[in-house]
Amino acid sequence: MSKNEEYQKEAETHLLHAYNRYPVVMDHGEGVYLYDVDGNKYLDFGAGIAVSALGYSNEEFKKALKDQIDKGIHFSNFFYSQALKDAAKAICKITDMEKVFLANSGTEANEGALKLARKYARMKGKEDCYEVISMNKAFHGRSMGALSVTGTKKYREPFEPLIRGVKFATFNDLESVKALVSSKTCAIILEAVQGEGGIYPATKEFMEGIRKICDEKDILMICDEIQCGMGRCGTMFAFEQFDIRPDVITMAKGVGNGATVGCFATSAEIAKALEPGDHGTTFGGNPLACRAVAETIHQFHKWNLISHVNEVGTYMKEQLLTLKESYDCITDVRGMGLMLGMEVTIPVGDICKKALEEGLIVLSAGHNVVRFVPPLILEKKHVDEMIRIMKKVLG
Ligand SMILES: *Cc1c(COP(=O)(O)O)cnc(C)c1O
Repeated sequence: MSKNEEYQKEAETHLLHAYNRYPVVMDHGEGVYLYDVDGNKYLDFGAGIAVSALGYSNEEFKKALKDQIDKGIHFSNFFYSQALKDAAKAICKITDMEKVFLANSGTEANEGALKLARKYARMKGKEDCYEVISMNKAFHGRSMGALSVTGTKKYREPFEPLIRGVKFATFNDLESVKALVSSKTCAIILEAVQGEGGIYPATKEFMEGIRKICDEKDILMICDEIQCGMGRCGTMFAFEQFDIRPDVITMAKGVGNGATVGCFATSAEIAKALEPGDHGTTFGGNPLACRAVAETIHQFHKWNLISHVNEVGTYMKEQLLTLKESYDCITDVRGMGLMLGMEVTIPVGDICKKALEEGLIVLSAGHNVVRFVPPLILEKKHVDEMIRIMKKVLG
């Protein structure tokens, strides 16, 4: 039996079967490659679901975390820490916001943002204002609150009843949003580029239209930048590509380069709605995660990663569009920066599986989209390598 088989069998004995994992036991990463316990090498276009932005060999990032482990990885929110101060400052800088709340995951970031929206309405004297408008195909997380605003019925239905007052509009259809707005609406939550739903970028009219509605009715616009943010789309946040600013930004995935962290950022005025006692977490803002956030953001600036994403992302999109010309099974290529989707007519699960056998990690999104969300340090030669393997897979 290979180590892959042996470890997999043992793990499955004890794990709740919540995931259909691939029969691969990962051991370590180097650059943009992962290696399993039997020494097989994989070119990583998944980045642990759009997380490992800096890849696996950033020595300064590793050194910062090791240093923090020596100092202490948890002190609790009874105290401040240097890492907490540094992370909060860095997040406010990149978001151009004034206040941030640190949590542990994307789900929790959205959960906090939803609580903030309800409390903000109360602060404004609107007692019966609790409804949230979300979008079809949106993904915001799996807790009861975040799940309530997730657009995929299949994820929600087994757990109903969920929180009250959530309505779903059609993404990129402004009229469908307007039809749902009422005096009870406290927030509109959306992704500037839908990730899990199938890599669907918002249109400029849609984003600007939502902003206008929110301004007119004093509704909070929450941009879930958990997947499309942190440089992935070629700007620090995807909403920057539209002429708007949200009231609340939620982040996770790439923000800690793999450290478990999520957060939401907002203005000082809106942040007043949450007072001591309203919201909290034991682990959120712990020094290990915060050190990871501060160092990740430092590395973004040091390597000018955003312009790198633009360069390699543009190249990759061109290559995928060329690939599309040769294969009838590819019906669309879309996305921005290094968040690209390839819509196909053949089962996307088969493509991911075959690619893995050929040493390439790609993800699926929606039901018919191959999703490419590689580490942001990816180079053009890796794109070429991916295209070579993809040709084999599609052939
Ligand atoms: C992944 C994701 C989430 C949930 O984040 P978790 O860290 O898995 O809780 C929420 N929103 C978007 C857009 C995501 O991609």
